[in-house]
Amino acid sequence: MTVQSLPSQDDVRATAARLYRLADSNSAWLASAEGADLWVDGQDALLRTPVEMLQYYIHSFEILVDRLRSHDAFKGGMVDLFEALQAHVVACTETLGKPGFMHSLAHALCVARSVHAAPLTDDLEIVNDSLLMVLSRSYRLFRFNAYNSGVTIRYAADGWPAFHPESGRLVVARRYTPDLNPRRVQQYNVNHDMMHVVLFGDCYVRASSEGCRATARRLVLAEEASIALDLRIYRELARYGVRLHHLGEIEATESGWRPDGYHSVFAEIAPDPAESERLEIALKRAAVDSVQSGGLPCPTIHARLQDWVASKAIASHAQWSRATAERNHSPAFRAAVDAIPSLDGQSLRLDSAAFENWSGTDRIPVDSRPPCEEDRARALRRNEFMALAVKVGEWASRSWGDRTEAAVGEFSRRLSCLFGSGGLPFQDPTLIGIIENQVLPAITPDAALADLLH
Ligand SMILES: [Zn+2]
Repeated sequence: MTVQSLPSQDDVRATAARLYRLADSNSAWLASAEGADLWVDGQDALLRTPVEMLQYYIHSFEILVDRLRSHDAFKGGMVDLFEALQAHVVACTETLGKPGFMHSLAHALCVARSVHAAPLTDDLEIVNDSLLMVLSRSYRLFRFNAYNSGVTIRYAADGWPAFHPESGRLVVARRYTPDLNPRRVQQYNVNHDMMHVVLFGDCYVRASSEGCRATARRLVLAEEASIALDLRIYRELARYGVRLHHLGEIEATESGWRPDGYHSVFAEIAPDPAESERLEIALKRAAVDSVQSGGLPCPTIHARLQDWVASKAIASHAQWSRATAERNHSPAFRAAVDAIPSLDGQSLRLDSAAFENWSGTDRIPVDSRPPCEEDRARALRRNEFMALAVKVGEWASRSWGDRTEAAVGEFSRRLSCLFGSGGLPFQDPTLIGIIENQVLPAITPDAALADLLH
């Protein structure tokens, strides 16, 4: 997106006119894609901002963008647009208090819906997505990275979906989608898994050279680092000093929406960066201890953590990490998955997660590139290959048992040839077809091995 393609005032006015019409009727708001995204805070901001008032905010934002254009660093892409929207909300809030916040938020949401940046899903609306894109820099960076990393979010019609961050596919369980049309899911039900993919997705299929236990320790650290980052998003939302309805929703999720009072770690701890870091350290320590002990008995955890993450949950993270590490160290699984090159930087980032704490700092361990359609297309192809390689690898480790290293090596060689010697030709759509139609059907247990190797 270039400077010239920032939305025009006419675009924003047209979107605003549509949103105001919807917001006037609760039933129309509830039944629309925009209402599902902008939800209660979006409707509230619009209804508190008379249309005539919005004109002033459209105008003052134009003045801000004109000033920014004189800076070399301002390229006018999607990242700059949202940075400018956030700066506008901050300035209006500091100058005019809550009314300034509400009016500038109404304007920012109209702009966000005009550009509808970096969509990740065709069959779900992400509730409060635009709100967080405007108000939280961390969320925005993860969202744009998720787009470039080929993350797709889908609704799971049946059953409980498996967790497969390496494939970039986030499948949302039915229990997280209320029975409303259009179908929708809260941002906090997808944001956490999105962070997993963006930060560490590729690491979920790799094996540490230090052995299986080291792999399990790394995986559990990835989990706890992602959990701790949730605190940052809360802090960024709370920073405006306005009691957003969405903050109440986030707190209520901690208690499972119990009607009686509860202690909110988000509300009490997240605003204090030093305390957030202490909690992150305690969380990681409990998780690593749990890996060492096999997840049993449940770890003893810091008292302040207990209303946020159950010790049972940490124990199950530890067990899951150990099982995944064992799969990853199986030679047959390695043979399939190592044919796909690792993603740059993710392994190092996971190493950093062991000794750095990100919840309390302003540092965000991801790049800040704008959403890019070519990057997404390439990543989507890679994710398809990875999903297939995992399928092949899991089949091979189940079926081969103690087959010889030589057979594993041959299997690996065949796959590498298929994928191409210089790395995967990600742009070649016919390869997926070859693998699905020829390789996978060919390697059914036992009979298959001969077919594959000869
Ligand atoms: Zn997780």
